[in-house]
Amino acid sequence: MLFYSTKNPEKKVNLADAVLKSIDSDGGLYFPKKIPKLPSEFFKNLPDLTFQEIAFEVAKQFFTPEISEKELKQIIKDTYDFPVPLINLNENNYILELFHGPTLAFKDFGARFMARVVSKLISVENKKYTILVATSGDTGSAVAQGFYNIPNINVILLYPSKKVSKIQEKQLTTIGGNIIALEVKGAFDDCQAIVKKAFSDLDFEKNNIHLTSANSINIARLLPQSFYYFYAYAQLKKKNKTNLPLYFSVPSGNLGNLTAGLIAKKMGLPIKGFICSCNINDVFPEYLKTENFKPINSKKTISNAMDVGNPNNFPRIMELYKNNFSKIKSEVIGFSFTDKKTKEKIFETYQKYNYLSDPHTAVALLGAKKLLSNHSKNIIISLGTAHPSKFTDILKPIIGKNIKMPESLIKILKKTKKSMKAKANYEEVKKLIFYINSNFST
Ligand SMILES: *Cc1c(COP(=O)(O)O)cnc(C)c1O
Repeated sequence: MLFYSTKNPEKKVNLADAVLKSIDSDGGLYFPKKIPKLPSEFFKNLPDLTFQEIAFEVAKQFFTPEISEKELKQIIKDTYDFPVPLINLNENNYILELFHGPTLAFKDFGARFMARVVSKLISVENKKYTILVATSGDTGSAVAQGFYNIPNINVILLYPSKKVSKIQEKQLTTIGGNIIALEVKGAFDDCQAIVKKAFSDLDFEKNNIHLTSANSINIARLLPQSFYYFYAYAQLKKKNKTNLPLYFSVPSGNLGNLTAGLIAKKMGLPIKGFICSCNINDVFPEYLKTENFKPINSKKTISNAMDVGNPNNFPRIMELYKNNFSKIKSEVIGFSFTDKKTKEKIFETYQKYNYLSDPHTAVALLGAKKLLSNHSKNIIISLGTAHPSKFTDILKPIIGKNIKMPESLIKILKKTKKSMKAKANYEEVKKLIFYINSNFST
């Protein structure tokens, strides 16, 4: 499959370029040349397919033949070795739990897949690559887990010192092996600026250091996020619950998750519509009201992974709908909710259904409730994007109880943090990258 830049549809690149460059030199995002419709036979058989089988059928459309069918099957098998339960909260109200991967957040679906695709694409080049990632918390560990122990790859994670949660820091700094955590005395924006500058610094290539990025707009991270929409539908079909119109409530920040759902719909999945559920960073819901896309300075909330003031997948949504505003409005509904409402929802869901949701999932549940209150004859699946135990500091005071940690997290918390420290200074970080590479022997 070829991909084109959203800034210039005439300019087409192959899979390797789209994935390894992440973003076009013209600043556009890569988009598949074609979104194929899947055959009706596939939809008929869906309930009998496993997650991995569904993922393969969808992925095949975009990633073969550059990646062979055999390799793709193996990538999917290695990536999705965890359950994806569909929970019935009550009546027509469901939650798809996407947080049972190694980092306990839905970012695992995209990041682990992308990591394996990257390693496959560069394996033919016989070069060593350094993946540079700036992270505000969740993304870094999902990406790093994906690249863990993969030959010829080093990962350097830049994270802002003291600005990520305790649990997140442990997840970033205890992986070891080919993953190096760089603790930067500064803000996330400093980390991001340093990474950006490094990519335009020719000294690295001159010294045989090949940098590549793994940021959130990478097309190999986006496409695999469509797999679970098909899988969720398959589970409903198994229960004979596909007679009512289906909506997904998507807790949204950069709109990657939502875009992947829209792609699934375009591939033929019979979804009535989507709810774009946001916290007070409500750029997309505002767009749906006004047709004006107006980025804002992001505001801090308890659903911090959605504190995005300039959602970076917006151009892809425009591309999918060819800028047809009324068409978008007929398929996507936008809502935004305050922290106060989110906390109330966490409390209510716990009281009523004995279900503890993290703050991001709670925003999705608020969106679902709002739609169901007007249209009770729908089925809504809210996407559960993070495990509640990652947010014990926020949840404990709301429910007044200690929160049980999964085994995997207890293990990580017992490990010793290992990081290299740097000032928020480009030259200093650059020296460290050179130093790390001089010891890059695997
Ligand atoms: C990243 C993230 C989101 C937002 O997803 P987007 O694809 O950026 O819209 C929601 N919840 C959690 C827990 C996340 O980590």
